[in-house]
Amino acid sequence: MSIEVKVPDIGDFDEVEVIEVLVNVGDTIKADQSLITVESDKASMEIPSDTAGVVTALSVKVGDKVKQGSVILQVEGAAAAPKTEAPKAEASKAAAPAAAPIAAPAGAKSSAGDDAYDVVVLGAGPGGYSAAFRAADLGLKVALIERYPTLGGVCLNVGCIPSKALLHNAFVLEEAKHLATNGISFGEPQVDLDKLRAYKDGVVAKLTGGLSGMAKGRKVTVITGTAQFKDDHHFVVELAAGGTQEVAFKHAIIAAGSQSVKLPFLPDDERIVDSTGALALKSVPQKMLIIGGGIIGLEMGTVYSALGARLDVVEMMDGLMQGADRDLVKVWQKKNEHRFDNIMVKTKTVAAEAKADGIYVSFEGEGAPKEPQRYDLVLQAVGRSPNGKKIAADKAGVVVTERGFIPVDTQMRTNVPHIFAIGDIVGQPMLAHKAVHEGHVAAEVIAGEKAEFDARVIPGVAFTDPEVAWVGLTEDQAKAQGIAIEKGVFPWAASGRAIANGRDEGFTKLIFDGETHRILGGGIVGTHAGDLISEVCLAIEMGADITDIGKTVHPHPTLGESVGLAAEVAHGACTDLPAQKKR
Ligand code: FAD
Repeated sequence: MSIEVKVPDIGDFDEVEVIEVLVNVGDTIKADQSLITVESDKASMEIPSDTAGVVTALSVKVGDKVKQGSVILQVEGAAAAPKTEAPKAEASKAAAPAAAPIAAPAGAKSSAGDDAYDVVVLGAGPGGYSAAFRAADLGLKVALIERYPTLGGVCLNVGCIPSKALLHNAFVLEEAKHLATNGISFGEPQVDLDKLRAYKDGVVAKLTGGLSGMAKGRKVTVITGTAQFKDDHHFVVELAAGGTQEVAFKHAIIAAGSQSVKLPFLPDDERIVDSTGALALKSVPQKMLIIGGGIIGLEMGTVYSALGARLDVVEMMDGLMQGADRDLVKVWQKKNEHRFDNIMVKTKTVAAEAKADGIYVSFEGEGAPKEPQRYDLVLQAVGRSPNGKKIAADKAGVVVTERGFIPVDTQMRTNVPHIFAIGDIVGQPMLAHKAVHEGHVAAEVIAGEKAEFDARVIPGVAFTDPEVAWVGLTEDQAKAQGIAIEKGVFPWAASGRAIANGRDEGFTKLIFDGETHRILGGGIVGTHAGDLISEVCLAIEMGADITDIGKTVHPHPTLGESVGLAAEVAHGACTDLPAQKKR
């Protein structure tokens, strides 16, 4: 059983800063062993553990503020803890998910041999190819193993890129229709699905082909086949061309990613698809159900709706697009209501039956229709599960949690010091930009550099229309956690550029620390919000405050200006809105 170790009563101190983390994921700790050092303006002190066991996840990092009751780490009971080799990493923050992990397996020990690769990367998604290329650039001998014939993983082949290729077309199609209100009419759009599909495939091919060229240029050996660990220094690869190959490594980076979760009760029918099936764009259904109101489902829904499908969406939680502030989502929802016949929240899909005329789906919960509903296409987009249990990690002694995640420290090391893991397989958020940065860290650490993954924030974007983007602390989180904040909201109804674009429904919101006025988070809803959020990410990383952002001269007239203007609103200095009260 996994136990949370929390900060005990620390006397008069309300909130103290963590200045040192004294243990790593995978360490066996004793009761009373010091876990972290914290510092207030008066003193520093070490916080001991109240329990013994194996550390399976760290919840704090240097620089975090903690108080009584803050979770420091998770341990598994001592009896289930045969781990002997502690990671050598200096850094000790965990990027691992707080799921209940299992004890470290014994694994089979071997040595790599002189002709071994310095690094073998398992999986060529954004995490894997970035790690391999960075390692090669740092002078290491690298092999990259990928089961599919093209590099790029989920993101390039069946994720980020093909979905955006389709979303771009959906956006232009709808914009073109909208122009009729400005006096420019093109007539009803004619959609040639084969050509649209070919466009999307061409975009993917251009990028994946580019990766192959870059691998060659860097002398990274690409091995096409499905790999599993043989022991702690070898993979066995079932080659796509036939036969097997043993690949020896001094270091390995596991970047085997994730796959769509399948609902077990859904029948096997070609009218029930996951995101990969939806991206194949075989036909446009009249009536489509999206199971799961998250980003992937809503992005695909946007594409199919633009092409003519009517949508229903079912979501177990109390709202769509969880994670983003509700006020942002509300703007998206209002603009998108016309796509949906039925938005069912707090509702579960419980059964489905494939009949000749469609898939009949039954629901339970607050928004559930009484009768089963008929659909031409059902998209299941209920999340993704990591591939940790599919690579025989136990043979190398690598810990994999019950859910298939691989716990790592902030240098991306697993419990086995020369084996690293990155990307979707190490935990949330499952996003390409996180995987890439983690890949670079793993490669740099292997090359002897002092690197660690210490991003303050990782942005999230729904590339819907309008886009919804957010980063760092959200207003809803601040409310729930009782954090004193200041916020600045700039409505796009006052943005010259948004009005000129005919898309002024959005707004830009910045969240600042109530005391220091430093930026803690931000959210944007509107066209191109995904591009605009980068400035907020940089501001958070740089510790910018209201004045830094508000006094930065932004180009006019741009949507990006709304970030500076939101800071001005927080400062009480915005002259593009009715008079405000000064701070
Ligand atoms: P993956 O991309 O999953 O790559 C893992 C690779 O390992 C795969 O190529 C796989 O074939 C290979 N592999 C696995 N096991 C083995 C084995 N045993 N042997 C050999 N090879 C193996 N993220 C964003 O940031 N922005 C977006 O807009 C976005 N849109 C998305 C849209 C969709 C429809 C989906 C499904 C995902 C989207 N994502 C997006 C998520 C993003 O694709 C993932 O976070 C990212 O691909 C994870 O990268 P990774 O390197 O960890 O793993």
